[in-house]
This record gives sequence, structure tokens and C-alpha cells, in this order.
Amino acid sequence: MLQINENFLKLSDNYLFADIAKKVHAFRNQHPELSVISLGIGDVTQPLPAACIEAMQKAVTEMGSSASFHGYGPEQGYDFLRGAILKNEYESRGVQLELNEIFISDGAKSDCGNIGDILGIQNTVAITDPVYPVYIDSNVMSGRTGVWENRRWSRINYLPCNHENRFIPSLPAQPADIIYLCYPNNPTGTVLAKEELQKWVDYALEHQSLILYDAAYEAYIQNADIPHSIYELEGARQCAIELRSFSKTAGFTGVRCGYTIIPQELTATTSCGEKIKLNALWNRRQCTKFNGTSYITQRGAEAIYTSEGKQQVRKTIDYYMANARTMKTALQQMGYDVTGGENAPYLWVKTPDNLSSWQFFDHLLNQAQVIVTPGVGFGPSGEGYVRLTAFGKQEDCIAAIQRIKELV
Ligand code: PLP
Repeated sequence: MLQINENFLKLSDNYLFADIAKKVHAFRNQHPELSVISLGIGDVTQPLPAACIEAMQKAVTEMGSSASFHGYGPEQGYDFLRGAILKNEYESRGVQLELNEIFISDGAKSDCGNIGDILGIQNTVAITDPVYPVYIDSNVMSGRTGVWENRRWSRINYLPCNHENRFIPSLPAQPADIIYLCYPNNPTGTVLAKEELQKWVDYALEHQSLILYDAAYEAYIQNADIPHSIYELEGARQCAIELRSFSKTAGFTGVRCGYTIIPQELTATTSCGEKIKLNALWNRRQCTKFNGTSYITQRGAEAIYTSEGKQQVRKTIDYYMANARTMKTALQQMGYDVTGGENAPYLWVKTPDNLSSWQFFDHLLNQAQVIVTPGVGFGPSGEGYVRLTAFGKQEDCIAAIQRIKELV
């Protein structure tokens, strides 16, 4: 008889943003006359860089002629994009990579969800808390998390990030085979300095762990001494996979393109102790389950690295970071305890008067018609916080802050 993967039944019914959407929908139905401003879901609002539009339009024209038509492309991505990434993202920071260590994809969410395909389910997993929910849920789906008790998965090693440790996690107390790190962090907006990140690399090398380093927000780093790539750290090629995305860098949330770096040195063992290259395994996985990112999209992504593309991307990032600064300064002046927003497009705000995350969410929705994201939706240590994104339009960010001010 046909059976399902019962791990899926362990997942909670709703996804955080679906819960929020339901509440907002109900509010809008009750108060159709009120305008609601969203600082909730982390989606961008500014259009694609003109250089990307132009490159994609050119690629569409190419597809219209048999002489320049492109069918299936390489599963790993076209060399023109891999080369541009290698030169502009890595060589420019003193990191040497090979083209075959770069895998182009349709975004970092797919890659963080799928990477578990090549890792044994008996591996122990350490995850910072609060965290981007995909890391946990994809491990639940593959059966790596144990049972749900006391609002936690029994086999996940949660690494709390809270006010006491300035949202910087401690190294795992029990050895972990797989460690998820995300910097700049979603949702707390914190970053790791080089010395701090080096501790994780050293730990992973000592315990033969794998770090899955999600750098989806690296383009938002403003301080020159904060690493953009984990490969800027010594030894990282032996212990880390890096995930990156064009979504927040260049407004590609609806276009879909990202990439994953798997160094050739990176290995894991079979049950017999044989060392296998993760690069080769991932290549095998992609060739079987993925038919490549579209040619048009990859031409669009390549254009980010032209001189006009770079300027346009910088302008958009500056726009969002100006939103972050405006909101952070205003909230702090109102007496809120705010983290992030300096090297990341997220503000992590302590709820006032010991309100729970959802109580403060309801309060802001009902009294100010501002949507934020309840911190508890990112994990147990997120309770008592909300996340605000800086991806809104400038006028909306200013209006939302004004409404919150009027509440105070
Ligand atoms: N990683 C983190 C930490 C994110 O916050 C997001 C999106 O919000 C992603 C990955 C997914 O990025 P993509 O749009 O490339 O799938």
C-alpha cells in the first residue's frame, strides 16, 4: 500500500507567514477603511537593476532565433556567471575558488532545503535560535530532528542567541555534525566578526563537522572588517559550504537565482569510513534532480557585475540601509531595545512591557496597522521579540514609525 513520508506529519500545520497573512486578512476584512503597512515578510520592494533588465531582454531576443537559442543549460550553471561570481565575489576578497566549486541554482531556499539529500540522517544538527525556519523544517522532513517536545525538537541542538550573549551563539556543548550559521543574520540582524567566525571554523575542523554558512545577506555588510564569505577564514575550505542568493542583493526574489559553493577538499565519511567528496555528491544530486537555472535569469545575474550593475545594486542596498537607520534611530529614541540594522536589513526589537511576540504583533496591527514578524516564529529564543524589515518603501517605513510613535 502506498505510504507517505510521515516526517511531513510532524511539521506544524502552518508556516509563520501564512499565520500572519491570516491575521492581517481578518483585520482587513473588519477594517477595510484602514491602510496597513507591512514591515513583516522579508521581500524586496525596489525594482530590478536596469542592467539586469537590459541583459535579460537581450537574452530573450537571443532565445527567439535558432542561431542563438539556448535549451537545457549545464546543471551547475553557465561558466559566464560562475566566472563573474568567482572574480567579483571571491577573488576580489582574496579567496581562491575553482569554477567547479560553484553551483548556480534557483535560490538559496532550495539549496538549504536540498543539501540534506547528500548528508546521512543520523548526523546531529546544531542550529542557532532564532533562525530562518527552513533549516529546521527541512531537517524535520528528512527525519533528522527526533520528536517535538516542550516547543523544541529532541535531536536538534539549539544554540540560543539572546540579549545575554548579544545574539552571538556559543559553540555547541555536545559535538554536532552539521552546524547552520547565517550571517548577516536573519532574523536578528547581527554579524560575526572574523575572530568570532574563526572559532566556529576551528570547532568544525576539530570535530569534523560541516558548517552550512548562509550568506544570503552578505551584500548588506557595511563594516570593512566583517567577513562576507566564510572562506575568508583559515581552514574553512575543509569544513564549510556557503549558500548565497541574488534575491536580496539585486531584487531577484521573483526572478530566482542563487548559488552554493562546495570546495573540492570537503569530505564526509561512509559507514565504512571511506571519505567521499561532497562536491561530487552534490554534482550528482543536481544532475539528477535539477535541470539548471534559466539562461535568461543567469544573463540577468551576470549583469549585476557590470560597472552599471554594481552601481545600481549599491544604490538599492543604500536605500534599504537608509530605511534601517531611520527606523532604528527612531525606535531607539522611543526607548525600544533594537539590535541589527547596521550590517543587515533587519531590526530585532524587544517587545515592551514583557508582551509576548504575538501580543505585540496584535497590538501593532490593531492599534497602528503596522505588520511586523513575531520573533517566536523563528524559534523559542525569539519569544519577546519582533522583526522589522528595511525592505519597505521609504515612505512606508517613515509612516510606520510615525504610527508607532503615536502609540507611545
Ligand atoms: N536564507 C535566508 C537566511 C533567507 O532569509 C532567505 C530568504 O528570505 C533565503 C535564504 C532564501 O533566499 P532565496 O530567495 O534565494 O531562495
